[in-house]
Amino acid sequence: MVSVATLGSHCALQVLKGAKDEGFKTILVCEKKREKLYRRFKFIDELIIVEKFSDILNQEIQDKLKQQDAILIPHGTLIAQMSSEEIESINTPVFGNKWILRWESDREMKEKLMREAALPMPKPVTDPKDIEKLVIVKRQGAAGGKGYFMAANEEDYNTKRNQLISEGVISKDETLYIQEYAAGVLAYLQFFYSPLTNELEFFGVDQRHESDIEGLGRIPSEQQLKSKKVPSFNVIGNSPLVLRESLLDEVYTMAENFVKASAKLVPPGMNGPFCIEGVYDENAQFSAFEFSARIVAGTNIFMNGSPYTTLIFDEPMSMGRRIAREIKEADTNNQLKNITT
Ligand code: ATP
Repeated sequence: MVSVATLGSHCALQVLKGAKDEGFKTILVCEKKREKLYRRFKFIDELIIVEKFSDILNQEIQDKLKQQDAILIPHGTLIAQMSSEEIESINTPVFGNKWILRWESDREMKEKLMREAALPMPKPVTDPKDIEKLVIVKRQGAAGGKGYFMAANEEDYNTKRNQLISEGVISKDETLYIQEYAAGVLAYLQFFYSPLTNELEFFGVDQRHESDIEGLGRIPSEQQLKSKKVPSFNVIGNSPLVLRESLLDEVYTMAENFVKASAKLVPPGMNGPFCIEGVYDENAQFSAFEFSARIVAGTNIFMNGSPYTTLIFDEPMSMGRRIAREIKEADTNNQLKNITT
């Protein structure tokens, strides 16, 4: 019988609770400093304690996972803390498509895939000289918004970049990605695509709460103007959102296009959970600034199901549980190879 493993961070609790509910043995690869936290949860059957997450590449840990027929569920921490090469070299079967995670981490590849999926995107700006409208400046990979900043023109860009370098937030030789700022209502659209049934499921919507950009909105403009601090987009938590029903058709279409584009550019395609992240403007037009090709932490809101999963399943269904259900189905029908890489 296969078991389900993940790294101790991000959405590990949801993933392993879901796996337990579906009858799997659960394994957490856990950093020493978090052991106390995770031991509180009885649905975690085994903790493999490591110094750092990349120790998962050590033969000894891979052997332990192999002995238990573990399937590793990737999440944002794996991407944030390991390089694409390291992720691709993991011998343990990874749920979904581990090759697509490189497309999530590399801004140029990301843009290419989003373009292929015909997702409407805020315009990228290749040179700080060309900044004409308000832009957001981002770092590579899943930095969780840390060190991101807004700039109105080249001078503003240079001042803020230099300030963040001197504060040690970003490094001097870091390549930054500049994109036009899209103003509106944030919406992170969560999906699951099953290659077993060829069906796309819309799982829910969340919004990220980011510090200290949100804090800035709570102080009067007089103090805002006096502040010399460059506000960041460091994610602190998430809250749920339901969309106007008239927007749902387009939501499905965007995700279907994304699944098709992924199948074309990154075989075996976008299997399992993913998220399209963006902003609805004043005309309810969506602009996607990002995708995540794996489970997102915003699904943690819906551990007991979301308004949208209620429409699909007659039982509480979290994304973690949905993943485990897919593994169970595939295992029963001898199709584990079709849902892992
Ligand atoms: P993740 O942790 O999801 O991988 P990330 O580090 O790749 O995130 P983004 O999701 O691209 O970063 O951006 C972080 C935050 O910055 C977003 O949640 C959003 O608030 C803001 N943001 C990013 N791009 C834009 C944009 N073009 N217009 C407006 N806001 C944006």
